[in-house]
Amino acid sequence: MRLTHRTATLRLREPFTISRSTDEEVEAVFVEIEADGVVGYGEASPPDIYGETVDSASAFLDDVDGLLGDDPFALEEIERRLAERPGEHGAKAAVDSALHDLQGKILGQPVWRLLGLARAGPPTSWTIWLGDPDDMARRTEAVGERFRRLKLKLGGRDGLDVERVRAVRRVTPLPLQVDVNEYWELDEALENVRQLAELGVQYVEQPLPAAHPEGARLKKESPLPIYVDEDVHTADDVREAAERAHGINIKLAKSGGIREAVRAAHVARALGLGVMLGCMLESGLGIAAAAQIASLCDHVDLDGNLLLAEDPWQGVEFVDGVQLPSREPGLGVREVVSRPR
Ligand code: MG
Repeated sequence: MRLTHRTATLRLREPFTISRSTDEEVEAVFVEIEADGVVGYGEASPPDIYGETVDSASAFLDDVDGLLGDDPFALEEIERRLAERPGEHGAKAAVDSALHDLQGKILGQPVWRLLGLARAGPPTSWTIWLGDPDDMARRTEAVGERFRRLKLKLGGRDGLDVERVRAVRRVTPLPLQVDVNEYWELDEALENVRQLAELGVQYVEQPLPAAHPEGARLKKESPLPIYVDEDVHTADDVREAAERAHGINIKLAKSGGIREAVRAAHVARALGLGVMLGCMLESGLGIAAAAQIASLCDHVDLDGNLLLAEDPWQGVEFVDGVQLPSREPGLGVREVVSRPR
């Protein structure tokens, strides 16, 4: 097999703000793996909070070409060889996606069918990024009925997080979940979760910093389910997460691909945890890979490509709030030739 890769800049429709950063564009790496004239595609969205960058992902991909071997079905073996290089889960996810795409194309089946899964998962949430309460309410009103659930980014560190949710609750009947991205401390979290429960919020994602020593206490005292994201990368992290959370947020860019994401989901189930599937700011290629396993999950947050000004990859269909993977073989994606600007 032969691997090639290139970087691409994805422009967002509007600047995207969360507690720790604002993005106007993001960089991705698109990977192609060719085997006997068939090409599989994958996207790397290196998570910068874990020290991964487009440069480190590209350097990793330069190195792994020789480790792939000739059999796109030998996932376990390939994974073992790649695991000798630490980190770079974004790049590993791109390789894993491209291999799944190849397998599907060779066998003439979509990946969700190869995995024995249903095509449709739960509806995706739409992210209302962090802003002033009135601004978040205005942006919520503009969403209308296009989405069936909303995820509010919190963590303003200005004492207004509950007011943000209250302002949004006034203008929409949609189910709400919130993501604090590690920006509360214990006292604030205990106080806020009680108020958010009264506002009908469904669950709170990553209220405390990862590995916070009081995580177990918050889980015990919270009237709302706590989901962790920054606390969990791979299946190995799930057991510890069970002490501090009622559910986990799985992302391919953290797990290193579909295969490990499925493992993490099963470990979570065995421990009685809920499972959420999230994404990065990424194109329809990365979203197509994640959408293959959406039906394994209780909650889906796959709006990354919908936040882009232009999505260079077609394949995922947005139908009645659900990000549906294609019925075409593999990931079922096709690159759109972009218009000159
Ligand atoms: Mg999150």
